[in-house]
This record gives sequence, C-alpha cells and structure tokens, in this order.
Amino acid sequence: MGVDLPSERVVFPRPPGLIVIVLLFVCLLEGAITLAQLYGTSPAIWVANGVLLGVLLVVPSQRFVAYLLVCLLADFALNEGHGDNLLLGGILAFCKLAEVAIAFGLLRGRFGARPDPARPGALIRLAVTALAAPVFPAIFAADARFYLAGEAFPKVLADWYVASALGFMVVTPLVLAMFRPHRPIASERGALLAGLRYFALLFTVCVVVFSQSRYPLRFLVFPPLLLIASRRSFAETAVATLAAVLVILGFTVAGHGPISLLAQAGVLSQGEKLRIAQIFSFILALCALALAARTEQTRRLRAILAKRQERLRENEQRYRVLADNSGDAIYRMALDGRRLYVSPAAQEMFGFSPEEQVGRNWREDVHPEDWPAVRVELRKLNAGSDDIVFSYRRRCKSGRFVWVETRVRAARDRASGIVREFIASSRDISVQKATEEKLNAANAALAALAATDGLTGIANRRAFDEALDREWRRAQREQTALALLMIDVDHFKPFNDFYGHLAGDDCLRRLAATISGCLHRPGDLAARFGGEEFAVLLPTTDAPGALEIAERIHDAVAALQIGHDVTPLGRITLSIGIASDGPERYHSAQALLHTADSALYTAKHEGRNRSVIAAIDDHGNGNAHNTANTR
Ligand code: GH3
Ligand code: MG
Ligand code: MG
Repeated sequence: MGVDLPSERVVFPRPPGLIVIVLLFVCLLEGAITLAQLYGTSPAIWVANGVLLGVLLVVPSQRFVAYLLVCLLADFALNEGHGDNLLLGGILAFCKLAEVAIAFGLLRGRFGARPDPARPGALIRLAVTALAAPVFPAIFAADARFYLAGEAFPKVLADWYVASALGFMVVTPLVLAMFRPHRPIASERGALLAGLRYFALLFTVCVVVFSQSRYPLRFLVFPPLLLIASRRSFAETAVATLAAVLVILGFTVAGHGPISLLAQAGVLSQGEKLRIAQIFSFILALCALALAARTEQTRRLRAILAKRQERLRENEQRYRVLADNSGDAIYRMALDGRRLYVSPAAQEMFGFSPEEQVGRNWREDVHPEDWPAVRVELRKLNAGSDDIVFSYRRRCKSGRFVWVETRVRAARDRASGIVREFIASSRDISVQKATEEKLNAANAALAALAATDGLTGIANRRAFDEALDREWRRAQREQTALALLMIDVDHFKPFNDFYGHLAGDDCLRRLAATISGCLHRPGDLAARFGGEEFAVLLPTTDAPGALEIAERIHDAVAALQIGHDVTPLGRITLSIGIASDGPERYHSAQALLHTADSALYTAKHEGRNRSVIAAIDDHGNGNAHNTANTR
C-alpha cells in the first residue's frame, strides 16, 4: 500500500450490485445470530448493519431505497426462519433497517457522493452517528421484545444498542475505505510482507492477551494496532481493527480473556462483561482509525509538498535556462544590493565573470557622477514602486565605463507581499547614448545657428524678438526696468556706394563686435535688427544706465575710426534711440520698441551721431518730441 503519491493512477471502485449485497447481508446476519446462539448470548457486533450503511453511502442515491427494502425483506424472512412470530419478526427487521436509514441520513449530507472516512472530521462524525442512530430503534425493538416475547427490557436495549453502534464504528469505515477512489495497493513483495508481519504481530498479541484469563493485560492490544495505524494505510488499519475486535469479542463471549477475569471474580455479570468488551472495542477502533486518518493526511500533505518542491525546482531550472541564454545581463539581488545571481551575458558586456560579481554590491560599479540620479530612482522602490528603469554608466573590468539601461523589479513574497529580493536586467546602450549625444550637439548647434545672424555672428532678429518677449514678461513679473537701444548706421548707403558692398559687410561685422563688446552684464543682448540696424536689450536698466551704454558704444565706434569720407566727420558714426522705463509705463513690448524707434528717428532728424531718450506720455505711449540730445 505504501505512500500515496498524487501522481499515481487513481482507481474508482464500482459499488457492489444488489444481489451481492443482499447475499452478504443475509450471510452476516445469519452468521452473527448462529454464533450468538452457540454461546447463548445476543450478537456482540452487528457487522451486517455496518456493511449495509457503508454500501448505501457509496451506491448511487437513486438505488439506496431498493437496497434498503430488499434487505428489509431478507431480514424479515430470516427472522421468520428462526421461528419469531410474524409481528415481532417484522418489527425487529424494521428497527434494524431503520437505524441504518437514520445513520445514512445523518452521514450522507456531510459526506457527499464520495465519502472518505480518512478526511479530517469524518471519523468524529461517524462515531457520533454510530452512537446516535441506534437509540430509538433499540428502544422500539426492546419494547417489542418486552411486550411480544416477554424479554427483559434493559438487557435487550443494551444488547441491541451497543452491538449496532459497534458495527457502525468498526465496519462502516472499512467499507468506505474499500470503495473510495484510491491508488492501487503496492504490489512489491517487500511492502506486502511488511504488512503481513504487522498483522501477525497484532493477531498474536490479541490471541495471547484474550485467550488467557489470568492477567489483565488488554492494554497490550493498543501498541500493535496503533503501530499499524501509524505505518500502514487507512484501509489496512480498518481491516486490522475489525480483526482485533472480532478476536476480542470472540474470546470474551467464549468466556476467556482479561475481561472474563472480572466476571469470574464475581465483580461483573456475564452481560456487563460483554458490554465492557464492546466499549473497549469501540474505543480501540476510534483511536486506531483516527490515528490512521491523521497518518494518511500527513502522507498526503507530504506528497503534495514533495511534488510542489519538485515543480519549483523544475521552474527554477527553466528560468535559469532563460536567464543564462538572454542577451541582457540578468541579476538577482538581495535587498542590500548584493548580487545573488549573475547571468553569463554580463561577462560579455562588462568583462567580469559571474563568480567575480556574485556577492558584490552592484552600487560599487555605478559611475560616481551618476549615483545621485540612480539613488533618486531607487527611492521609488522604497516608496512602493515595483518596477523602475534608469540609465547610468557602469564600470567594466577594463576600468572604462559603458552606458547601460537597467530595469529593476521587486520580487515579492506571494502570500505576505513583502519584497524578498530584486530582479534586474541591464542592456548596453553606449551606442544609443553616443548617437543621442551627437544628436543633442547637432540640435544645440542648429538652435544656435537659427538664433545667429549669418553676417555678423551676433543674435539675429528672431533671437532678439524672443529675448524681448521674455525680458518684457520678466520685467512685468518682477516690476523691474527694461531698456532698449535702436541703433542705425549713419549714411551707410553712401558708404556702400563709395567703398563697395564687401567693405560695407566688413564694416557691419566690426560694428556688431564693437556693440557686443560694450555689454558686460549676462542678460544684455546685442542683435542685428535688420540691414544696418542693431538693437540692444538691457534688462533691469533705467534711462541713465541705458544712456551710459549708448555713450560707451559711440565712444567705441569712434575709436574704430572706420573712414567714411562722405560724412562731415570723415568716419562711421551711429544714431541711437533709447526707450527705458518701468514696464508699467508701456502697454506692450511692441510699444517699447516703437518708442525706441521714434527716438532713433529723432536722433537722425537732429543731425545723427547722437543718442536720444524717448519721453513717455501719460497714456504710456512713447514719443520723441521731448528729447535729450546728448551729442
Ligand atoms: P541714414 O543716415 O539716414 O541712416 O542714411 P543711410 O544711408 O544709412 O540710409 P538707410 O538707413 O536708408 O540705408 C540703408 C542702407 O544700408 C541700404 C543698404 O545699402 C545698406 N545695407 C543694408 N543692409 C546691408 C548689408 O547687409 N550689407 C551692406 N554692405 N549694406 C547694407
Ligand atoms: Mg537704416
Ligand atoms: Mg542708416
């Protein structure tokens, strides 16, 4: 029989047919009555009732009424055969079958279609049923025998009740164990022989203890039976229990054994002696079967556990194969960052063998400059995130660093949800990173180009417009001043005409560099506004400050001494229009621009080579009527 393994083939035994059951029922009844008559007592155990209850529990439910009725008729016929009167025979047969029907009713609901006596709780249920089911039928039968046959009511009641209860307790579990789905009994000779040895031991002890009437050693029956219960299957224990009970009752009824000792000593009557043997048998059966059920449950759990562990090992093997063959480096890491497993791909990527990496903390290989950013990502894991992806430079065995993209996942314990370790996979993204850096550089160059004037190399009109908009809003927000210079080269058309366009271009380049050179604050911006016009943006600068810059520009241009024979001074000069005030004085950046332009116009009008500061009217509009002529 051995250990039940869930993977083994399961057999579903077919319940016995009606004829087989009726014949068996009749034989068992007849046997019990004949034996009892032989010793002049009533039957000590109703084996037939226990068998019938077991069979009713395993046959399809639509058939149990037929089984019950046919057995009732057979029992009635048997009673008639023994010469009972018609009414008494009928009542007794009815009582016998009634207790089986009551027991069936008590158990069927709980046990279901495939009763398993070794299931947790099943035996207690069975014991309670065995004790409860015969109560009323026994009273009814004792009444009938008292009135119709003149027998003593208490004796009949006790005989009937105890024999029935014992029959249910000892025999029904055996029948159920035989007909429940089970694994085939191990056919190895060794296992079979071991079973037989246990049986022989039990049988010998039972016979030795109960065939003598000198020593009260009935407790000696427990060890061999409990040994069987703890070592062998439930079904074997049930068979052994029935055998032991039959030996105990047989010898006791025949007047031998430790219980007869008490009767001989005059302490107990013959009836009480049998009763003690029956109660002893009931308890013996309950203990042995309960232990066997527990043993079977333990075995079943152990087998399931072994199977699960096997499956776990297989799974781990399978995932190990996946990890070993992945192109990415795969790690298992302890909560403190120590690597527990490193896949072979890591060696190809970083040069370290898996053995060199296992046990080391992965943080040691993160580039120190990248560590703060990586730490920010890792904090997300602490905050409950289960999956993070980040990039960093990772040290190789050669000492150089490669860019990797790493995904870290928290591996949680399924039952408790506690993070047990981390699973990480890393990809070499250095090629991708280099391309990205090149692209960024190209984009930056492109952006710079888009903002630069091609001829002079300073900011172009677009960059100026953006800067003006930005600085205007900042001035609004922070309530600071913003100054704007509009600069136009004087008599430049004649310069071009006289010296040629190339010389004109060169002149513009020199002027642009000179104007830029006059600005020292980081926020100041010089731009080519268009043609030979320049614009200068001066954040947080008031009118006097702006005028100072304008003067500086005039001086610097004068110092350049770019010859221009057509003009009165014989050199290149500039006219500058200035607009500056707190932003609340203007409606918009465009108004500021327009005002500076008006001031420039005035500067031209008034003779060039000068700066003019725009005046602001009460409506916030700039005009150049009231000008400060500085040259
Ligand atoms: P004004 O003092 O009134 O400003 O006289 P002006 O001759 O400078 O007059 P205006 O501003 O109308 O002349 C603009 C001239 O600037 C026209 C064109 O010959 C010259 N110019 C504009 N852009 C360029 C350029 O990119 N290169 C060169 N060489 N000359 C340019
Ligand atoms: Mg112009
Ligand atoms: Mg000009």
